[in-house]
Amino acid sequence: MHKHSNERGSPISPSKAESDDAVYKTLLESTKAIPWKIDWATLRFAYIGPQIEHLLGWAPESWQTIDDWAERMHPDDRDRVVEYCVSQSRSGADHEADYRALTRDGTYVWIRDVVHVVRDDDGEVNALIGFMLDISERKRNEEEVARLQKKLEELSFQDGLTGVANRRMVDSFLAAEWAKALVTQEPLAVILADIDYFKQYNDRYGHLQGDECLKRVAQALRGAIGRTRDLVGRFGGEEFVLVLPNTGEAAAHAIAERCRALVAELEIPHDGAKAGSFLTVSAGTGAEVPDRAHTLTDFLNRVDARLYEAKRRGRDCVVSGS
Ligand code: GH3
Ligand code: MG
Ligand code: MG
Repeated sequence: MHKHSNERGSPISPSKAESDDAVYKTLLESTKAIPWKIDWATLRFAYIGPQIEHLLGWAPESWQTIDDWAERMHPDDRDRVVEYCVSQSRSGADHEADYRALTRDGTYVWIRDVVHVVRDDDGEVNALIGFMLDISERKRNEEEVARLQKKLEELSFQDGLTGVANRRMVDSFLAAEWAKALVTQEPLAVILADIDYFKQYNDRYGHLQGDECLKRVAQALRGAIGRTRDLVGRFGGEEFVLVLPNTGEAAAHAIAERCRALVAELEIPHDGAKAGSFLTVSAGTGAEVPDRAHTLTDFLNRVDARLYEAKRRGRDCVVSGS
């Protein structure tokens, strides 16, 4: 059987140190991390890996002073990073900094600089050595994760079918606005709007068409409010709610009438109840300045009773408080 030679290393020779240096240099210059060294006394680059040119387009010879480094940094990152790195280096602390480095074509690459402070025998800072790492991929991933997270948060407050606020959102919004109004003593208005004869609509046109109809009604209701603080939500099934902070009874009634009109204007055919007619909604409204003697639930029950009264009166109408 053939045996490998187990000769260990080469004989010690005067050139060993030099050949080791060559090995280290080759290693350093073949990694993706870009090594560099700054002489602390002069704040000049003593060395920078040739890989820098591949990453940023600036030749190694163009990295002369610490200013070349600072100037090739995104203006929004520069002050923060330079200040941080200088103060850390001064106090002799190893550190890391992330920033956008300018490329020769004028774009930016996210870099992480990992910095090690080298001291001489009496403890004085002598040089900084470090690596620049290309972290643009990681940054892109972080940004994507943040974007998806935000989207997810939005979605968890949205009704999946209609895109308006879901019941969970409506409940927390109502509770928060009720609590606020208790303090400010401003009236809080609520409109409950319910599609008329929707069971027949589904029976007549099918559930999918019913879903389509819910989307259009939700969209129409959105068009009835103007203030950014107002909220439109799906209260459940074919029932929607509008929560209107700092709104009195008359204004709430007018907005409910606008809701009714906007839905009627959609002219969604609904033969289920009566031949040749269109889909309509009924609404109950209420506006109250909260006091501690009454609960939000009492208030909502009063509004719900008015919606019921609107149905009793023949539908396609609005019933408000006195
Ligand atoms: P009223 O005029 O008294 O409001 O009668 P209505 O038929 O609208 O009320 P009812 O409560 O009897 O029926 C509500 C219907 O709404 C029954 C249910 O199938 C339908 N519905 C609830 N949620 C959805 C949904 O997400 N999609 C569809 N297509 N239909 C739904
Ligand atoms: Mg209904
Ligand atoms: Mg209903």
